[in-house]
Amino acid sequence: MTAARAFVSLIGAGPGDPGLLTVRAVEALRRADVVLFDYLANPELLRHCPQAETIYVGKKGFSEYIRQEDINALLVQKAQENGGQRVARLKGGDVYVFGRGGEEAEACARAGVPFEVVPGVTSAIAAPAYAGIPVTHREVARSFAVLTGNTQEGDAHYERLSGVDTLILLMGVRNLRAIARDLIGAGRAPETPAATVQWGTTPRQRTVTGTLQTIADEVERAGLEAPAITVVGEVVRLRDTLRWFDTGPLLGRRVVVTRTREGNSDLAGVLRARGADVVELPLIRYAPSGDLPTLYRTLSQLGTYSWVLLTSNHAVEELFRQLDEMGLDARAFGAARVAAVGPATARALERHGIRPDFTPGTPGAAHLGGDLPASADARILHLASHIAEDALEEALGARGLNAERVELYRTEPAEPTDAELQALRDADVVTLASGSAARALADLAGTDFPVAVMGPQTERAARAAGFTHVTVAADATLDALADAAGTAGA
Ligand code: SAH
Repeated sequence: MTAARAFVSLIGAGPGDPGLLTVRAVEALRRADVVLFDYLANPELLRHCPQAETIYVGKKGFSEYIRQEDINALLVQKAQENGGQRVARLKGGDVYVFGRGGEEAEACARAGVPFEVVPGVTSAIAAPAYAGIPVTHREVARSFAVLTGNTQEGDAHYERLSGVDTLILLMGVRNLRAIARDLIGAGRAPETPAATVQWGTTPRQRTVTGTLQTIADEVERAGLEAPAITVVGEVVRLRDTLRWFDTGPLLGRRVVVTRTREGNSDLAGVLRARGADVVELPLIRYAPSGDLPTLYRTLSQLGTYSWVLLTSNHAVEELFRQLDEMGLDARAFGAARVAAVGPATARALERHGIRPDFTPGTPGAAHLGGDLPASADARILHLASHIAEDALEEALGARGLNAERVELYRTEPAEPTDAELQALRDADVVTLASGSAARALADLAGTDFPVAVMGPQTERAARAAGFTHVTVAADATLDALADAAGTAGA
């Protein structure tokens, strides 16, 4: 073991959209022993550091008010504990754009604790961008200034800003009326366009526009609250043509993405990028095969089969895990040919050094069974979970072929947390990627919500399980499923 040593990463967590975290930030989170996070740092980011102790040090929300001095002291203390630890300090937006990151760095420097700064995407630029407002634009604005609207943090000196084209106000919603008045007093035209963006880059993003004269009234009327940013300048007019994030039907929709295997989180990413409020819900968990003797015997004779069929990524991973445990490797396949249900399963095999001999042109168990180029006397093995659908065996059977199914692993119902059950009750729509997901969800939480499903096969399974509000994706892509989630139940 290497000697532990105290180290602090001051990390900009970005403005809210978890996709706007930097690669360097993810690396630091993965290595952290302790993570201190903020009100403005999306808690979703903590999935990058399941190993770490996490401490909420926000000055708003659930905890008691924590003073900046206490946070500084805690940073140093946690870094020095246990003979030296890696501390990641997640701060909303960028580390050094307001938010007192400089003071935290000074505390580390004073205590002799080495530190690094991982800059983040600042809300000052990202929130306007997600509202369709570029902070500079050729011929419209050549300069911008980022100011605090919090009067405690310094006097305004708005006169000095008279040459700056775009003004970006942070922390100012509550003082907006006074700030607008002072800006007009300092010479800014009352009819200068202005926009306020609340919770920019997140599913809660809302924007109101007006002029310097009217913006405070508009914000009050719409009920916008902190955190919010106000942009003042001609660039605000560009929003009419440059809106993109807040135009789609998914913005703010509460979507529960059910998972019966890995990989579905790609869908969560697609939905989040379109502004949906996503909760991922695992419906199953994996357990060892219930018949290990048969499994071991089968795997030690893999080479005697003509074909070995694999119908999920997890099956591939589990197969190689078992082979490894038995002291075997990819050579166990011998002369057996290998088929994958679709391209993702094929890629999983390739990662383990096996190039599948066959993948159906259209992914799916029925196509695999219908098109497998096997001869009449072929010995076919299907390694799967006990609940794998029978579509494969049925399609083979229709051609007079037989497959031996051996249980490679079991899937058991997951036990949802209270928060997950609440998310289900609050959901506008729930996505289902397979028939087994439909059945598992029905068992778990009933059928009383709109669902969006991947294809006709899943639709049939969902209806059979009792779901009545079913929207089907136009094709078998994540984008089409995201489209369906945008219209389902609306
Ligand atoms: N370091 C941060 C700013 C911290 S000051 C950054 O670079 O973004 C806190 C202020 O930032 C809030 O009062 C608000 O004005 C602004 N802010 C932070 N996140 C925001 C968001 N998602 N949408 C709008 N404003 C945000």
